[in-house]
Amino acid sequence: MANNIPEPGIEESLLAPALDRHELHTPAFIYDEGRLLRHIARTRAALGDGSAKLLFALKAFTVADGLLHIAPRVDGFHASSLFEARLARQLLGRQGRVHLTTPGLRPGEFDEICELCDHVSFNSVSQWEALRTAARGRIGCGLRLNPQRSFVDDERYDPCRRHSKLGAPLEQVVEIVRDSPERLEGISGLLIHGNCDSTDFLPLLETVRHVGARLGGWLAQIRWINLGGGYLFREASDLGPLHETLELLRSRHGMEVFFEPGASIVREAGYLVSTVLDIFPSEGKRIAVLDTSVNHMPEVFEYQLHPPVAGDIAGGPHRYLLAGATCLAGDMFGDYAFSEPLHVGSRLVFESAGAYSLVKAHMFNGVNLPAVYALSEAGELVLKKRFLYEDFSARWS
Ligand SMILES: *Cc1c(COP(=O)(O)O)cnc(C)c1O
Repeated sequence: MANNIPEPGIEESLLAPALDRHELHTPAFIYDEGRLLRHIARTRAALGDGSAKLLFALKAFTVADGLLHIAPRVDGFHASSLFEARLARQLLGRQGRVHLTTPGLRPGEFDEICELCDHVSFNSVSQWEALRTAARGRIGCGLRLNPQRSFVDDERYDPCRRHSKLGAPLEQVVEIVRDSPERLEGISGLLIHGNCDSTDFLPLLETVRHVGARLGGWLAQIRWINLGGGYLFREASDLGPLHETLELLRSRHGMEVFFEPGASIVREAGYLVSTVLDIFPSEGKRIAVLDTSVNHMPEVFEYQLHPPVAGDIAGGPHRYLLAGATCLAGDMFGDYAFSEPLHVGSRLVFESAGAYSLVKAHMFNGVNLPAVYALSEAGELVLKKRFLYEDFSARWS
């Protein structure tokens, strides 16, 4: 079943005319409300008949007004910490579920986490054993499982890498189920998040089959399963294995199924707009210094990501090495080619900048954070937040 419907380029989107009409403070982070809603609708459509629950993973994008736009269209939020859980509950009110998992659960925070969350997936058997008494009767207790099936090339992004800290290794759980199953009494859910940016759902099906084969009859005590994020629902070309996974979990095991994607919903719903500050030659290349930095899109530096820039065309005659504004030599976005020359004052739009960008941005060198705008469904840019010197100084005083 085909599913991949690409978003139009920004020239055909609401963004291009909005940028022509509005003066912007740059750098600017823009989230596109129409795209957020479309991406959620398409994710729901990919999940089929609507019986799988959709949560949004807050860690990918945490702008409160954007989350308020998302909230009525999802079944809840996924949180990675007490602070995220507080924000999730504040935005959802009593409506909607909050699921939490983290390797760094602090005993002193657990009471409040139980007040805020519906489900907590403990990251290890020892974490569960330390907190099971405190959790009893207050939350749905799950165990994060490391299925020990690896599908990601870069181990820095692979939850199932060797010696992973993310989840109880499946073979440890198999042993406990065989030798002392009472240790897992009270666990009624599982969380499996084992991939990264995958457009192929076969790894999910293979993982779930493998877990089913290894845990067998013990799964009768499991009422819900959260299959995490790590999959790009809209870009997937074949939804067959996803539907087969859902069918297996529901018909064979009778489980309620959750997904909690982040990037798949927000990555292509965000842009980073920057202004060229300076252009000069450097040993055969032209450097264009921007008023942003890789610290506003950390995956460029961490992951050698080459983010798409509007107007960049293969073989374009005007080539630039786009560079960030900080003192770090490696603060570079890479080589880009345009049909028209850039000038000091030109605006550049990084596309697919909605996920894991603003949430990880910082003010190294005192370079200001991007101002935050919403692009409304009517095509207007609405300023949501501007950072000031006071935000910088408050952190250091
Ligand atoms: C990061 C994460 C997600 C969201 O992942 P995406 O790759 O953004 O879809 C969901 N669940 C867990 C447990 C995660 O660690």
